[in-house]
Amino acid sequence: MRGGRKIYKAPLQESLEMKLLIIGPQASGKGTQANRIAKHYGIPHFSTGDLLRAEKASGSALGREIAARIDQGEMVPDELIWNMVKPHLDAHPEGWILDGYPRTIRQAEILDDEVSIDHVILLDVPDEVCIERISGRRICTRCGHIYHLKYSPPRREGVCDLDGAPLKLRADDTPAAVKKRLADYHLKTAPLIDHYAAKLIRIDGRPGIEEVWTSLRAALDTALE
Ligand code: AMP
Repeated sequence: MRGGRKIYKAPLQESLEMKLLIIGPQASGKGTQANRIAKHYGIPHFSTGDLLRAEKASGSALGREIAARIDQGEMVPDELIWNMVKPHLDAHPEGWILDGYPRTIRQAEILDDEVSIDHVILLDVPDEVCIERISGRRICTRCGHIYHLKYSPPRREGVCDLDGAPLKLRADDTPAAVKKRLADYHLKTAPLIDHYAAKLIRIDGRPGIEEVWTSLRAALDTALE
């Protein structure tokens, strides 16, 4: 184990030790940017949305309970989500990027009791841009890969490039569910911006993927110096 936390100047091929959160409204690009961060800095990426969708797809009793909530755009209970996330964090004490958690102040308190977060990335995107992005989003019915009809279309319309399975609108990307999720974001998740003010890295999430990644990486490198 390398000593201490002050190893951020290590070459990029080497994994860095850091615990990061990425927050932002639906379709702000959290998953895409978190993936890039994970690859670039060599840390695992955990997405609560992906964990929940995997449980839902398994068809377990828990999965059915989860599906009833997430398909309506409702949050799952704080304790349930924490029990799902905790084993992953425990398995990687050296660090990770967590995407989709916390989503409420209560969830942040549960997390803060267990670990010390280094930085919190906020992807700032106005609601109208989120709605426009969500309406074009399509998900592979088999592997879960996400496409966008305008920004990252599949090679063949309606078919996943990776496994040839059909694409569909995510169950919680319907206009009614999106309205509920954005309202919840402003009411319950946005207060995290003040909660983590001292650790916050605010990024304009409106430009394209590459442009956002360039500013995000520069800001994170500066924060890690
Ligand atoms: P996402 O893929 O991050 O948009 O998450 C999809 C859905 O999973 C959300 O709309 C919620 O229903 C549920 N979910 C994900 N993360 C959490 C969380 N931290 N707390 C409660 N519900 C969550």
